[in-house]
Amino acid sequence: MALIVHKYGGTSMGSTERIKNVAKRVAKWHDAGHQIVVVPSAMSGETNRIIGLAKEISAQPDPRELDMIASTGEQVSVGLLAIALQAIGKQAVSYAGWQVAIKTDSAHTKARIASIDETKVKADLDAGKIVIITGFQGVDELGNITTLGRGGSDTSAVAVAAALKAQECLIYTDVDGVYTTDPRVVSDARRLNTVTFEEMLEMASLGSKVLQIRSVEFAGNYRMPTRVLSSLTDPLIPLEEEANSGTLISFEEDTHMEQATITGIAFNRDEAKITVLGVPDRPGIAYQILGPVADANIEVDMIIQNQSVEGKTDFTFTVPRGEYTKAMDVLENSVKAHIGAGSIVGDSKVSKVSVVGVGMRSHVGIASQMFRTLSEEGINIQMISTSEIKISVLIDEKYMELAVRSLHKAFGLESA
Ligand code: ASP
Ligand code: MG
Repeated sequence: MALIVHKYGGTSMGSTERIKNVAKRVAKWHDAGHQIVVVPSAMSGETNRIIGLAKEISAQPDPRELDMIASTGEQVSVGLLAIALQAIGKQAVSYAGWQVAIKTDSAHTKARIASIDETKVKADLDAGKIVIITGFQGVDELGNITTLGRGGSDTSAVAVAAALKAQECLIYTDVDGVYTTDPRVVSDARRLNTVTFEEMLEMASLGSKVLQIRSVEFAGNYRMPTRVLSSLTDPLIPLEEEANSGTLISFEEDTHMEQATITGIAFNRDEAKITVLGVPDRPGIAYQILGPVADANIEVDMIIQNQSVEGKTDFTFTVPRGEYTKAMDVLENSVKAHIGAGSIVGDSKVSKVSVVGVGMRSHVGIASQMFRTLSEEGINIQMISTSEIKISVLIDEKYMELAVRSLHKAFGLESA
């Protein structure tokens, strides 16, 4: 017998028919003798619909009230799932975040979980009940309902699993796992049986939007084994088969097998590059350029500063494409004259492609293999950044798919 947390996404909870299927799947696990906690999302489209209502009334709704509204989708889901389980003879009880309680800070619409009280849930489990807890929401010190940011149910599920010291957190979703790259770009991308949480962080932040990134951080910090698997299979497939399907997010120390050098190719289509030319090379310059950009809440990713020639240097960095115009305005209006820069140029049609793998730590020559592959395709590299487990290049967006396909092949990632 084990304590297991299941998380079901909006598609899996998308209709009463699907909720009945979720109930059958959950009942199967409970019948096998496991204690089960379920954390569902709102029915698909529901959170958008109710937030849309608020926006019909006000362009900038009060975040506290927005959370009051946005959190209701999950409350409907948990109640429906409890009813569906009871209808097939299971004892089930549903709770909103504040009833558990899942305590968060007060950052409405993007709150962070501070603590989870497991007492009530444990007592229900011990009494043989299946416990269903709303994803995405919590309660702050003052009793206000908060939400954890879009896609936050993943984080709720992993946090609940960590608090209960569950054996595993199963994230049921409409894809059947994590792939070596996006199968829409490379048709023979391969599903990974395991991926380390560090690799998953890179893959998630670089565009494979399978899980909310914060849930992966949680899984890593609390060492919670988390599995991404399909909710679209027959709910009554043998439990053993289901329990080993999908992709397990694991820990490097626990993977005893020989690591492949490269695990996947991640990419981000929507990047923009900005260069401040002729910057005087003196202390404080990076801060004077990037400080105002950060103050405008614009996230900076890759950064390069050149060797200076005659006291002047060029400073280049990337921002998300959606923030490009705002970043250019900040630089033109609050930075350029102030630091005495020459001019500011930019390109909003660039993409980032990365090779990711913890195996890189013990292999040399990955970078040169990557650069050779790109050069054979005639793809120009504009910027490079590296960490212990990834190498990223910035290239013209026209060549992004070509780069991903050729790297996927060069590193032998395709399915057998
Ligand atoms: N219902 C919330 C959303 O749509 C949370 C979630 O689904 O994870 O963002
Ligand atoms: Mg989701």
